[in-house]
Order: sequence, then structure tokens, then C-alpha cells
Amino acid sequence: MQRKLFLVLSLVCTILCCTVTVYGAIELSRQGRTPQLIKDVYHKDGTPYIAIDDALPALGMSGYWDSVAHVYKIKSPRGRATFFPGGQYLRLGETFYPIKHKPLFIDGRLRVSEDFILEQLAEVLPTPIYYRNLNPISAPDADQGMLDKLFAFLLQKKKSSTEPALRAVAIDPGHGGDDMGTIGRNGIKEKDVVLAVAKKLKKKLKMQLGVPVYLSRDDDYTLSAEQHLGCARHDDVDVFLLLHAQASLVPDEHGVHIYVRPEKDELNGNEGFGNSSMMFALQLSSALRSAGFNVVEVAQAPLLQLVRGNLPTVLIEMGYLSNLEDKNMLNSGIGQQRFADALFVGLQRFANADK
Ligand SMILES: [Zn+2]
Repeated sequence: MQRKLFLVLSLVCTILCCTVTVYGAIELSRQGRTPQLIKDVYHKDGTPYIAIDDALPALGMSGYWDSVAHVYKIKSPRGRATFFPGGQYLRLGETFYPIKHKPLFIDGRLRVSEDFILEQLAEVLPTPIYYRNLNPISAPDADQGMLDKLFAFLLQKKKSSTEPALRAVAIDPGHGGDDMGTIGRNGIKEKDVVLAVAKKLKKKLKMQLGVPVYLSRDDDYTLSAEQHLGCARHDDVDVFLLLHAQASLVPDEHGVHIYVRPEKDELNGNEGFGNSSMMFALQLSSALRSAGFNVVEVAQAPLLQLVRGNLPTVLIEMGYLSNLEDKNMLNSGIGQQRFADALFVGLQRFANADK
């Protein structure tokens, strides 16, 4: 009798384990090296998760879990990179690379998703990565489950939110008047393209969300540094966006750079996880990427003295006026609108996210 019960129990256990855990295998190496077979692969909602301690040696790197700082540290050819379970970015020096699927502890091991390997780890390596999923799983059930959860979450969100998520937005189109900013190809001026994008974003925010939008300038005139920041002084302002464009002597250099101020207290490599400016920057970055823009980095930079220290504030260098493609995008009404639309999506996501 006892033996029978034991058998039944172990059978139930096996069935349960099979339904919650799906294992697979991958091959991984630096391009041109012998691929390493990794069998301890966990599929969560159709995405393979690989233990970071398996992935790094296969790529000729190493790393360790720092239990004091609560971060994982990678020794890479480009220096020390860090990330943490549940985190939204990989940090390399002062640059933050947004992570799509958060790293998780699964079965007692810190695991990263396939796209973490292909995107974030690829950033820290000088050579391309070879990766092959040996058990690609199409998981319609899991995806459906995810969608159901998402809808349930959205419905819940709608019911509970009585206050508007965003009260007002401040936007500073950089430069103006005598201060042209950067002058790009064909004499395109930074002061003009940033104003055009700011106006389009303002219109979209007013029409779709009905929130007040304060611009530091709505025409081509000179402002003091103080006046540039003045628009963020209104009490109802919840986010502050500073728009710029840049130029380089290297004509190929292109793409978007997003900056936030450095976190003040950086003790023991603790990256200041609760930084709302960083969260805002990551939402903008992911919206821009989804819209097809090349976001080069989300980084910390000693930006500016601010009215309110805790106001989520992000400076965006929208592109290089010295690069033909960027210049054409920023100088055309359609390109400016696409950029403004992407910023709008990022703003909305940030406002609706739990903070
Ligand atoms: Zn500028």
C-alpha cells in the first residue's frame, strides 16, 4: 500500500515537474571557435534561459556573483560589466544596455535569456557570437497565457487608476536664436530640428493625453541656461525631456544617445536601481528601438543643475547631423514625426508603469 502511494506520488511529481519545466539545449561559442554544447537550458514562455556560469566560459569569459553588492560581475575584454537578477540593464562602464528579458534565478542558478546573450553579451565581446538553439520551442499555450495575464493586468490597471498617470510634461528644445547648436550637412541647424520634434511631441501629447506641455521655447529665440530649465519648474510637471542633436567628424557615426544624470551615492558598485530617470530613459530607448531607431547607448553624464532633483529627467541626442541618414530623418517632417511618436510611446509607457 505504502509502495503504491509512493509510486503514485512520484508519478504526480513527475507530471507536475514536466508541466512547469521545459528543458532544451543550445550551442554557444565565439564565432570561429568550437561550439560548446549547453544542456541545462530552461524555457520560460518560449524563451530559452541559460545559466550565466555556463554561457560565459563558452564565450571565453568569466564572472562571479558578488553577494555583498548583490550584482553579477563579468570580466570582459571591454572591462567589468554588471547586471543583477530582475534588472533592466547591463552596465558597462558608464553605459547601460537595456535588457529585454530580465535575468532570473531559476532552479538555483542565475540565468539570462537568449537575447541577453545575443545582444548584451555581444556588446562586451570584440568577436561575433555563434549561437544555435537545438530545441526551438514554439509555445502557443505559454504565449496565450502571457497574453491573458497581460490583459488581466491591463484591465486591473484601468479599474484602479483614477488619477491621470501623467499630469504635465516639460520639454526643452536645446539652443535657439543666436545659439545655433550644431550645424550639420547642408547647413541644417540643431536649433531648428529639435524645435520641430518638440512641437510635434507637444501636439501629440495634448491631443492624445490632454495633458499640459510646457516648452522652454516655441520659436527661434535665444534663452539663458536658466530659461532652458524654467519650463520644468511648474509644480505639475512629472517628466522633463531635453532634446538635442549632435555632429561628428566621422561621417558614419550615427544613432541616438540617451543621457541621465549620475546617481549620487554609488557605493560598492551598487548602481542605484531605483533611479526613475534611468527607468524613464530605458522606456524611451525601448520605444525608439521598437520604432526602428538605432539607440547607441543609455548612459550617465554629468548633465545639469536641476530644479527638482527627483524629477525624471532625460537628455536625448536624437542623431548626428553630420551623418546623411540621421540628417535626412531629422530634417524631414515624416522623420521628425516618427521620432516624436516613439518618444510619445516611451513617455506613455513610463507614466503607466508601476513606479
Ligand atoms: Zn545641443
